Amino acid sequence: MNLHEYQAKQVLEKFGVAVPRGIVASTPAEAEAAAKDLGTAITVVKAQVHSGARGKAGGVILCKSPEEAAEAAKKLIGTQLVTHQTGAEGLPVHKVYVEEGSDIARELYLSITLDREKSCNFIMASTEGGMDIEAVAEETPEKIFTENVDPSVGLWPYQCRNVAFKLGLKGKQVNDFVKLLMNLYKCYEDIDAAMLEINPLVVTGDDEIKVLDCKINIDSNALYRQKEIHEMDDETQQDEREVKAAKFDLNYIALEGDIGCMVNGAGLAMATMDIIKHYGGQPANFLDVGGGATEERVTEAFKIILSDSNVKGILVNIFGGIMKCDIIANGVVAAAKQVDLAVPLVVRLEGTNVQAGKEILANSGLPIITADDLDDAAQKVVAKVAELKAA
Ligand code: GDP
Ligand code: MN
Repeated sequence: MNLHEYQAKQVLEKFGVAVPRGIVASTPAEAEAAAKDLGTAITVVKAQVHSGARGKAGGVILCKSPEEAAEAAKKLIGTQLVTHQTGAEGLPVHKVYVEEGSDIARELYLSITLDREKSCNFIMASTEGGMDIEAVAEETPEKIFTENVDPSVGLWPYQCRNVAFKLGLKGKQVNDFVKLLMNLYKCYEDIDAAMLEINPLVVTGDDEIKVLDCKINIDSNALYRQKEIHEMDDETQQDEREVKAAKFDLNYIALEGDIGCMVNGAGLAMATMDIIKHYGGQPANFLDVGGGATEERVTEAFKIILSDSNVKGILVNIFGGIMKCDIIANGVVAAAKQVDLAVPLVVRLEGTNVQAGKEILANSGLPIITADDLDDAAQKVVAKVAELKAA
């Protein structure tokens, strides 16, 4: 789960991290009032979307008066902001963050993530803040400094000083940076973040160190114990179908193809997508209905797949292990009847009670195409969809 910049900054403040003063606004009038309240000569109006690279996309606007802040908000609110991270559709801007302007002397980069290979937390810093960190890593890797943090030991101040010196910080800046990084690390751990990125972290003209931008990603598996954070979730920034699927405990990822997939088990779902591609088709989604696929969940899964207008055919691939094939077959039949299925449906069942399952499908009166194995199923659905597209 991602946080908006303004939410991330609210969280950071609770951990004693210095951020510029700012106010969220949903209308141009609110943005104007916010700029007046802040009372600084310069304010920055920033589109709140779950994406970085907003600056280059016109989503960060420097303003010299409250009127200009209103103008900027008018330009942003209600639009889709397209950045090089969002895809062509972009993300909807419902809110802007109006922030006091900062006098920037230096822009640095700082992040904390998890390094799964080393089983430790990983601090990354660079003198090249404000830029695409991937490009820095590619072109000037010597400008990136790292520290591994053993989660059972925690972060030591000497590690923070190491980073501070490598960033070329001096005098009072060093101690401020150490305090900042220790607080950031505490925040990262306490809120179960998977990534906390400050880009840029700035040194101001009067030697203050400030968080100018912040991206936080929370480990979704930890949300059950992060109630306050979970409540900040903005569903408008996510694919509608993915939000709906999550409510029914379905693991659904929307893709760009036209063959809807319903599978139990993530590994089998991956294999199903691979084999569809192998036979020249394109999966419309990844969908793992999980081990305990009840009739209700199968029906919901069907509805979600069919709400994608690109879907021209469906492949159901279920391995009945704990779940018995006849129960799955009943679920598929009930769901297909309920949703008025209008696209070809290919079903491959294997495992416990497979014969009974196949009989239920055959006797259902529905035009369900049964398949014997995964190859057969993939070839059948790819051929059907190709036929439909040619017609
Ligand atoms: P991002 O493009 O989504 O990463 O958005 P950022 O919040 O990082 O803003 C992009 C850039 O806008 C920063 O790197 C700064 O150069 C600039 N910027 C943001 N806030 C201020 C500010 O208060 N004063 C000045 N001068 N520049 C700012
Ligand atoms: Mn940024």
